[in-house]
Amino acid sequence: SVRPAASVAPAAADVCEPLSVLGADVRVPLVTGGEVTYAALDYAASAPALQRVWDDIAAYAPYYGSVHRGAGYLSQLSTDLFENSRADVAAFLGCREDDQVVFTRSTTDSLNLLAAVLPSGTEVFVFETEHHASLLPWEQREDVRVRYLSAPRSPRQAVETLERALAERTGGPALVCVTGASNVTGELWPVRELAAAAHAHGARIVLDAAQLAPHHPVDIAAEDVDWVAFSGHKLYAPFGAGVLAGRADWLREARPYLAGGGASRKVARREDGGVDVEWHTTAARHEAGSPNVIGVYAIASACKALTEAGFDGLVARERQLIAAVREGLAEVPEVRVLSLFGEDAPRVGVLSFVVDGWNSSHFAAALSAEYGIGVRDGLFCAHPLVRTLLGSEPEEPGECGAPEAAPGERSLNAIRVSFGAGTPDEHVDRFVRAVKELVRDGA
Ligand code: PLP
Repeated sequence: SVRPAASVAPAAADVCEPLSVLGADVRVPLVTGGEVTYAALDYAASAPALQRVWDDIAAYAPYYGSVHRGAGYLSQLSTDLFENSRADVAAFLGCREDDQVVFTRSTTDSLNLLAAVLPSGTEVFVFETEHHASLLPWEQREDVRVRYLSAPRSPRQAVETLERALAERTGGPALVCVTGASNVTGELWPVRELAAAAHAHGARIVLDAAQLAPHHPVDIAAEDVDWVAFSGHKLYAPFGAGVLAGRADWLREARPYLAGGGASRKVARREDGGVDVEWHTTAARHEAGSPNVIGVYAIASACKALTEAGFDGLVARERQLIAAVREGLAEVPEVRVLSLFGEDAPRVGVLSFVVDGWNSSHFAAALSAEYGIGVRDGLFCAHPLVRTLLGSEPEEPGECGAPEAAPGERSLNAIRVSFGAGTPDEHVDRFVRAVKELVRDGA
């Protein structure tokens, strides 16, 4: 059994109690016969729902009514719940008074929304190490120029790289897009310093908090970022909603992201046969159509649960689990942990690695089939970063199924293990034991 050397962190039960999750007793079959409790170690893809979130939406479900569209009691109740959820999310993020909270489908949707509202001629600065959701939306705008920044090898280098690029700005509006915590390495990025650099050069900054928010407090005002984006399904609220929160001006001035009912205040036929539309200037401008009130309420519920429990216990608990994983993997010379900023750099509960001589997809499949452990393998929607970390060019840059690595050869994709609230010691112990046994017994 693997334990960190010094145990000052809280016991699993202390953190798990207020933040218990669904699925803790799901049983899965093993190829070797029998069954085990499923060890969900893929929180970075999607975290299980908090029990509290499930209870809240179950209590609300019988009272569901259309939002912003009905005179009846349940419609009014649902509208209040939806708008109160906006206030709860704003409080969770420490929003400034004039910030808007727009509900979306996901982080990807949030960043595409931001890309859609950029003023024409905006220069966007983005590290090539970003998740594709942060890397790709900007190129969709033909009137926006994207500057890709090369992978930094330390937080300090990240700030210096950004500063150098911003110094060459041509003027006009500019946006920096940066992740708070990498979905590949779990490493924390120097958000506050990057925000200061952006603002010193007259640029704005959006924080991709998809991996940060579930593990770490995010304070939009204290970090001094202009926007924050995150997804409910990574924040223990997997019901199809996401958030873009931040500065109202660009949101208010742009064309609606979606056109339709709810975004428009007044629509009238013109005499020349066309249609005049007066769009809302609130968050509703970009939320046309009937909103996902269950998903939104689930996010607000998770935000409140995390705030009430406090992040201190969760952060300490994840450090303890990461230390156990690191300690266990360090005993296997065939394992290489992936890192941009150095192996000891602070990280959230996310870690990727490769195993010498193993195809990562096969390794992940063996963890599932033989041990009931769910991890992720592939390039994690961050192809340029994983290529940099592996020092290789996959022949088939798919998410999974990269070509087999011969014994001793470099792997062409990686394996990611990730966890958070509700992860018991046993899952991490089983994972470390499984890695050791699979490596010992061979591919
Ligand atoms: N950004 C990061 C850092 C992520 O890890 C992910 C998802 O893995 C995303 C953005 C996209 O999130 P979603 O798939 O919920 O849109």
